[in-house]
Amino acid sequence: MYSLKDEYDVRALTFEYHGIAKREMDSAKAIAAKAEVMEHRLFRLPDLKEAEDIPGGEFAGLPPTYMPLRNSIFYSIAGSYAEEKRVPLIVGGHNMDDAEVFRDVRSEFFEALERTLWLGSTILNRRRTRIRRPLSRKTKVQVVKLAASLKVPFELTWSCHRVGMEHCWECAGCLSRLESFREAGINDPLAPFNQTKVT
Ligand SMILES: [Zn+2]
Repeated sequence: MYSLKDEYDVRALTFEYHGIAKREMDSAKAIAAKAEVMEHRLFRLPDLKEAEDIPGGEFAGLPPTYMPLRNSIFYSIAGSYAEEKRVPLIVGGHNMDDAEVFRDVRSEFFEALERTLWLGSTILNRRRTRIRRPLSRKTKVQVVKLAASLKVPFELTWSCHRVGMEHCWECAGCLSRLESFREAGINDPLAPFNQTKVT
């Protein structure tokens, strides 16, 4: 969003699925407002659950944040939104580290999905609406560095998987955030102590 906002009219789309932390939704709204997007659409999917919220939800060693067919669902809805608004680009923020874990973040998936959207929609087909993933070749550490250079308001971001008003700094999301900022050598304004690497 921050790499595109000066060049394009940006619309943001956030999915409110089952069990999403209220703070994560608040954070998405605050960042979209700060980026002055044309519209921030919230799409509610209250029955869509992550593996940790599905009874007996073990999915071949995938993490608790795995959601069955997450991106097939999310990008079909994004395609519908793109058709409604006649936009030429759908942009996702998946990074290289995500693609190592989840099948529905890989290039083959998005290439096939783009074709599917064109086959299913006269308007998307005519406009050749593309799915772009500008962070797909970057690690989380590189994403943090890029975000710092784009002046992304880190104080408004949210990484914790737990429900609460503050980051817990213990869950997988928080630990990954701590490690990424530390390795990037960038101070996280939300961290409870200074994360900058001492050399
Ligand atoms: Zn946490």
